[in-house]
Amino acid sequence: MNCNVIKDLLPLYIDDCCSDESRAEVENHIDNCAECKKVLENMTGTVTKEEMNFEIKNCSRINYWKASTLQSVLLLASFLLIIVGVYFEAGTDYIDFGNGLAAFNIVVPATGFMISLINWYFIRLYKNKKVFSWCSCALTLFVTLCAFVWSLFHYEMNPLVLLGGTFVDFFEGILFSFGIGIFLTALFAVLSKVLSAFYAKMLGKE
Ligand SMILES: [Zn+2]
Repeated sequence: MNCNVIKDLLPLYIDDCCSDESRAEVENHIDNCAECKKVLENMTGTVTKEEMNFEIKNCSRINYWKASTLQSVLLLASFLLIIVGVYFEAGTDYIDFGNGLAAFNIVVPATGFMISLINWYFIRLYKNKKVFSWCSCALTLFVTLCAFVWSLFHYEMNPLVLLGGTFVDFFEGILFSFGIGIFLTALFAVLSKVLSAFYAKMLGKE
């Protein structure tokens, strides 16, 4: 059988739509003809590539949906935390260091985390998920720090009050006054780094 006949048969052979005789003829020819073998490899290669492209497209659509859901859930959670903090703040009527301490410790770190989540929308600004996740972590810390400084002025707190006693007093004072805030800041910074890498992976950023 000549090459042109084999090439005509190849599509049927690939789709498994030819007779056993034709199949045997094609296989016999392919074993002895490098040119037709190459044509067959090209044809099957193209099919697999198209199938793969289709799968990647389908997969990224599901991943995009997952990524959006993750971000929405986290945004809602940080928003709820801010509401809880503000609710506690509204319930306090004492002044100076006690004033707004609950808000200070909950609202401030939650705000930093929420801003970093909003920043996730601009994921395309970053080249890869490693850079993105470190930026997300740094942004959480930076916003939280700015919010802490703003809160000190807003609630007219004087952190120097804590410096009055011994080192142990100072340490205890820091833990007592900012403990929850420090814990939440560390937690959100780590969450921001880990979850943003997860988020970037779902969007195919390597
Ligand atoms: Zn041939």
